Amino acid sequence: SDSHFPVPISPHHVEYSLHYPHFFPSPDSNSSSKKIEFADIGCGFGGLLISLATLFPDTLMIGMELRDKVTEYVKERILALRVSNPGQYQNVSVVRTNSMKYIPNYFEKSQLSKMFFLFPDPHFKEKNHRRRVISPFLLDEYAYAVKPGGIIYTITDVEELGEWMKSCLEDHPMFESLTEEELEADPVVKLLSFATEEGQKVSRNGGQTFKAVYRRVVPNV
Ligand code: SAM
Repeated sequence: SDSHFPVPISPHHVEYSLHYPHFFPSPDSNSSSKKIEFADIGCGFGGLLISLATLFPDTLMIGMELRDKVTEYVKERILALRVSNPGQYQNVSVVRTNSMKYIPNYFEKSQLSKMFFLFPDPHFKEKNHRRRVISPFLLDEYAYAVKPGGIIYTITDVEELGEWMKSCLEDHPMFESLTEEELEADPVVKLLSFATEEGQKVSRNGGQTFKAVYRRVVPNV
């Protein structure tokens, strides 16, 4: 149950010096202005984060994963990469948490520039749709955490879930879809299909995928 993992009482209490010791050498350095900007929700074995870490070496990023053993594996993976590649992978970390409950404990308003939902669990039955990580209610939370102009990336091999995620994003007043040209120009979009373990499995099996990539709207002033 949730009681088995600690949850910071506010984003200010996230222990940056434990996650990113290279950037925050002491607990006091928590007050530094550098903040987590990318969140991979349900990161699984961490493949996307590992790719992003070297593509955006100065951006702090975190995976949020519910399964304890999987989270431990990702931690070990990152530590091993840090050892074998001195100076690299210092910007990536993982936390065991329930992202459906605790996003506001980790991120302030407009803190994130990218959020990822790669191959989330489908929860097929209608009565279980409320367990989906993209929903109208959760998009309100994500719209709060993602800064104007920030991007939400989703992909799935389950057509029905793909349509659901797209329609939730399409119907939400705070998100707008990227144009084909923008999708083409964004190097991160290319990672969605292949960077994660689930994506590689789907592609090995020749499965189709369905993407929805939306921008947090910039309010008119
Ligand atoms: N994104 C990874 C990939 O593409 O390989 C993993 C996909 S896997 C099908 C879905 C992951 O989401 C699982 O690792 C699961 O434990 C995690 N998950 C499900 N619900 C979650 C929640 N509420 N909070 C955090 N992680 C969750």
